[in-house]
Amino acid sequence: MTPDEFRKAGHELIDWIADYRAKIPELPVRAQVRPGEVRAGLPASAPESAHAFSELIADMEQIIVPGITQVQHPMHYGWFPSNASLASVLGDIASSGLGTLGISWESCPSLTELEEVVCDWLRQLTGLSEQWRGTIHDTASTACVTAMILARERASDLSKNGTGLQGMAAPLVVYSTAQAHSSIAKAVQLAGFGNDNLRYIEEDPYTRAMLPEALATAIEQDLTAGRIPAGIVCSVGATGTTAMDPVAAIATIANKHKVWLHVDAAMAGSAMLLPEYRHLWQGAELADSLAWNPHKWMGTILDTALFYVRDVEHLERVMSTNPAYLRSAADGEVTQYRDWGIPLGRRFRALKLWFHLRLDGIDAIRARLRRDLDNAQWFKTQVEAAADWQVLAPVQLQTVCIRHVPRDTQDKPLSGDALDQHTLAWVERINASGAAFLSPSVLDGRWMARVSIGVEDTGREHIARLWQLLQDSV
Ligand SMILES: *Cc1c(COP(=O)(O)O)cnc(C)c1O
Repeated sequence: MTPDEFRKAGHELIDWIADYRAKIPELPVRAQVRPGEVRAGLPASAPESAHAFSELIADMEQIIVPGITQVQHPMHYGWFPSNASLASVLGDIASSGLGTLGISWESCPSLTELEEVVCDWLRQLTGLSEQWRGTIHDTASTACVTAMILARERASDLSKNGTGLQGMAAPLVVYSTAQAHSSIAKAVQLAGFGNDNLRYIEEDPYTRAMLPEALATAIEQDLTAGRIPAGIVCSVGATGTTAMDPVAAIATIANKHKVWLHVDAAMAGSAMLLPEYRHLWQGAELADSLAWNPHKWMGTILDTALFYVRDVEHLERVMSTNPAYLRSAADGEVTQYRDWGIPLGRRFRALKLWFHLRLDGIDAIRARLRRDLDNAQWFKTQVEAAADWQVLAPVQLQTVCIRHVPRDTQDKPLSGDALDQHTLAWVERINASGAAFLSPSVLDGRWMARVSIGVEDTGREHIARLWQLLQDSV
């Protein structure tokens, strides 16, 4: 494809994307395909010769779009918001169009230095002190694997340079709660600790926050048994109910025992753009690493996860390899992001954040987050006031966890498996209709519905419409 052919097709593609985005509210929210249906619409092997751009666009319309669950839809309330602001989409296109290679500072000084600048902008925007330095990972999952490797290497005195964990005389232990995102257990497993050495600490039964006394006791018990406490993952905005572990109290314990503390604020990090919410991660300054996803609620398109550490020297000691072909005269003066994480080749992701912040503006982003927080409180009030409906957990951010508990034939509140069947049935009726989408989840062993507010285009009228749909569905 020549630059001129690109120009023509590119304009058509931008027009197509703009039209597509404009018509999302008319599309069903959940993908309307059966397993295998998209694959069956595609040829089993690659074409022998070039196709026209128009043919490709036709397949986008007919095959690809029906297989998309519309997470940008204003009636999408599933999982967590995964906003893809159009300003950041432009940044993503620019990133691809430049065709850069990020393997060292030399291979693209702009990539490295813009990343340093935007990570520092976001540090300031979320109220973190100057002791933090950041980088952009693809996801919070990768950030957590990195954090767990850092924890392992600190507790094992850089065992990677010798026999690794295989040479350790005692097991290394990590602490979290059962509310932690599934990526935490995965990171602990992949970093070599083993599932047996992941302790889920007791939570407050209502807020689901980690109980610091229980953490202290667990650490003491492990120490007494000759094990080595190595890492703690503290959730600020856990996935189920957006539970907030008490970071300050946990950090005190972590620092006392010199245990690595990672703060997983993948979702709630966006709320830290609002000064009035920063008390929710009070104490985060004392952690060792911290991650959050602008690609969730804030709305910088995937894959934009921020990872901050305080001890860059430890990070580089663990992550660098420094082969001869990557050394340069500038070493020592510049940041080599390949020594800050797992991949060598990196994309120019900073452009997405740069475009987003410059074209949308942080004031508008903050106003939208406050709108969503207000809407969540409004929705919570409606649900609490309605007969047979329950709000199951504190609404600390924009997620409201609910159940509908009707009376059974003996005039007792529905419970047990019958309640589960009822919950799953009404949620599925809504999701199947395409009118709205919610993700069911399990709380205390029973199904509930999570209403996660925060799509860029979701206003009060959409939430009012959702509330009507819910009442009509039961
Ligand atoms: C979404 C989420 C993650 C995982 O984020 P990815 O970027 O998809 O890996 C981890 N922790 C929490 C609390 C989350 O909400």
